[in-house]
Amino acid sequence: MVKIHTVGGFSEVGKNMVVIELEEDAFIFDEGFFLPAIVSMEERDKVMTEKRLKSIKAVPEDSVIKKIKHKVRAQFISHAHLDHVGAIPFLSDKYNAPIYGTPFTIQVLDSLLRDNDIVLRNKIHEIKPNTTFYVKGKNKKYKIDFINITHSTAQCLMIAIHTKKGAILFSGDFKLDDTPVLGLKPNYKRLREIAKEGVQAFIVDSLYSGTERKTPSEKIARALLQEVLLTIQNKNAGMIVTTFSSHIARLKSIVEFGKKLNREVIFLGRSLDKYSTAAKNAGIAPFLKDINISRYRRQVEKTLHKVERKRKDYMIVCTGHQGEPGSILERLSRHDLPFKLNRDDNIIFSSSVIPTEINKEQFAKMENRLKKSKPRIFRDAHVSGHGGREDLRDILQILNPKHILPYHGGPDKTMPMVELSKELGYKFGKQCHLMKDGEILKL
Ligand SMILES: [Zn+2]
Repeated sequence: MVKIHTVGGFSEVGKNMVVIELEEDAFIFDEGFFLPAIVSMEERDKVMTEKRLKSIKAVPEDSVIKKIKHKVRAQFISHAHLDHVGAIPFLSDKYNAPIYGTPFTIQVLDSLLRDNDIVLRNKIHEIKPNTTFYVKGKNKKYKIDFINITHSTAQCLMIAIHTKKGAILFSGDFKLDDTPVLGLKPNYKRLREIAKEGVQAFIVDSLYSGTERKTPSEKIARALLQEVLLTIQNKNAGMIVTTFSSHIARLKSIVEFGKKLNREVIFLGRSLDKYSTAAKNAGIAPFLKDINISRYRRQVEKTLHKVERKRKDYMIVCTGHQGEPGSILERLSRHDLPFKLNRDDNIIFSSSVIPTEINKEQFAKMENRLKKSKPRIFRDAHVSGHGGREDLRDILQILNPKHILPYHGGPDKTMPMVELSKELGYKFGKQCHLMKDGEILKL
């Protein structure tokens, strides 16, 4: 019998974690943060422990799988976003099982471990996208597929585990992007081969299943950026671009346009340093080779002193697209850095505000302060990394799974996926399952 434990990510957006139990063996897919809880943590609480994180419900409540803890043979990470990898440093050690992820994801995990002074006992394996490999169970081996998929960070995966009854496929986060700016296209060939063998269950990112569209390719975000960066009047003006630090493809576009403008591109902020370094170490970001990155307060101040005087020669790429307290743009808005914004300066948001109360509030505060200096502000040079309803329809038609488990949100997010599956002939409750955190589906 197959048991799918929906540990986290089925009642909220975040703290994703799924466990597949196959008789005497079990496999974990993702251990992520619930980011609103992390963002709300006070500075003094920043020493994180499992107990503390669980008390504020910032990590999956994995005590629900306590009874099968000894059966866990592997922990797979689908991609490098914190709502998928963030809890690994605090939860994974209790399982006597190695951790598997792509080189970029593992580089990010390494930096999270260093940030928290944590050394895991678990073995950590870097596996390239589009690799098939085997993991040892108690008495047999399991075939695993790391299938390349497109999303909004680098080297993202759909992960398949093959069973006698067919494959069980964990989607990670994805959209179907045939023209990604960095990395490979979705591996449709492998997905079709797996569909041929039969997909027993598909645990699928349904965050935007309620949006009736196909999510545009990253090439569209690149075009939006190009429009702003290369066509506005910016001759003697300052240029400040902010985006998600983990969005390596987006950073590539920004760097390339900066060079076209004959400006020196500089990166400012801790998380930009963290993800750029991970990308460099994973060997996927040659475009970052000669980029000057300032991480620490003094470095940032020194760099900005230089830029302030010759702003037309530089493009600043910095943190702060969500108005996070302490990020570079937020500090610029508070005049806490040696760079005075003026009405010729351009601030470009290659991002959208994550629709949680805390993010909306923080962003609005920063924006109001920024506007006092009257800079030009360009919002939303961005496309999402999550597939809409029509990406989901396509993937269901490619895979033709027997059972569907929508995830990456509570019923407000996943119910439209149920409606779509009904439209495609799935029976609700029998073949399409709306789960909550901490439940088990037996197949
Ligand atoms: Zn993601």
